[in-house]
Amino acid sequence: MPKSKKLFEHAKRVIPSGVNSPVRHFEPYPFFVKRSNGSHIWDVDGKKFIDLCNGYGALLLGHRRREIISAVSKQLNIGTLYCTPTEQEVELSDMIKGNFPSIDMVRLVNSGGEATMTAIRLARGFTGKRKIVKFEGCYHGAHDSVLVKAGSGSAHHGISVSKGGLDAVSKQTLVAKYNDFKDIEDVLAKSDDIACVIVEPVMANMGLITPEKNFLKHLRKITKQHNVLLIFDEVVTGFRVSPGGAQEHFGVQPDITTLAKALGNGFAIAAVGGKKHIMEQLAPGGMVYQASTFAGNPISVCAALASVKTMNRLKTKLYPKLEKYSTILSNGIGDIATDYGIAHSVNSFSSMLQIFFSAKPVTNYDTCMNADTKKFKKLFSGLIRNGVFIAPSQFEVVFLSNAIQRDDLGIILDSYSAALREVKD
Ligand SMILES: *Cc1c(COP(=O)(O)O)cnc(C)c1O
Repeated sequence: MPKSKKLFEHAKRVIPSGVNSPVRHFEPYPFFVKRSNGSHIWDVDGKKFIDLCNGYGALLLGHRRREIISAVSKQLNIGTLYCTPTEQEVELSDMIKGNFPSIDMVRLVNSGGEATMTAIRLARGFTGKRKIVKFEGCYHGAHDSVLVKAGSGSAHHGISVSKGGLDAVSKQTLVAKYNDFKDIEDVLAKSDDIACVIVEPVMANMGLITPEKNFLKHLRKITKQHNVLLIFDEVVTGFRVSPGGAQEHFGVQPDITTLAKALGNGFAIAAVGGKKHIMEQLAPGGMVYQASTFAGNPISVCAALASVKTMNRLKTKLYPKLEKYSTILSNGIGDIATDYGIAHSVNSFSSMLQIFFSAKPVTNYDTCMNADTKKFKKLFSGLIRNGVFIAPSQFEVVFLSNAIQRDDLGIILDSYSAALREVKD
């Protein structure tokens, strides 16, 4: 890939490590993308890939979904930023509220990290308490309170506590073990200064890890008992797992919800939502400060409106189709690995899946950390060579989009077969 190689050499001179987010970095160099459409992306050297990274889950409807492109094109003609309210913001908030019964009010922001930062400050402001609880391996963005034993790029690059982060902040973050019913009880019993528990209801930043039966119900029950708010970080699962996110799927209502990735289907938008008495603590009506120039900008809002409308309209087909495809792929990948005699475990849920090079089932941080990441690297390189792009880390997930076709599945499985053959050798 001569053009990508050359661009990367140049990029490294002007961009730290040549990338604008750490997860994009891989050896020997990332391919540079020229364009995308549907389920495919093309690099600057003209190579075509089936995209199974899909904007880390953002592109639930695939690249350049027509309803979204057309809504955004129209908006471009009448303005890109007003910094005063629009009718569309109200409409979008109503739609989010309609999809998520736990949400009475919504504040729009720009990114998932901004959403969790706001949610945590809101929980602290509302309860008047300082500490928060997060789970090992859950990722909630790149700010001090949550960059503690986090998943995603921070696990991949071995940075479990970031240099430059303040101890005084991270010390207020208590860490519990995901899928461990007793551990979270012990952590909550440690202090009466806990404002909230934040959790990815389905972990999608430590490979893919699903909650044990009733784990989320258990969280709901004991957070109530301890008078602690429960935040569901549905940045990945919101709209992806069902129109009402993981909370709809598992029948558990959190106090605060964060949404991002699939909300905008490729545009920068995120949201914090919750019950009225909590949300009303936000400034200017309340004393919890939160602000942003680009929050609720008309481009992102009209993209999100078109996304949510389209996802809701397609829901009876979209979710069953993706779950079926995800099952076909995870069974297929598992069978290939078994045929090659490679110790592995495959997790899948809804439109997400991941293979771990681990003989043991992967159910939490420890079992994920024990997976063989060298083998994963080989798998990733093999897939790239064979025209399939997945996120370049064991700690990320394969995301399917609605643009994927039945015919793509065979191509993907052939690529996995070729790549896994290299893993075996
Ligand atoms: C991606 C992600 C975030 C951070 O979102 P950004 O838009 O990258 O800031 C937060 N929480 C979860 C669960 C995520 O997957």
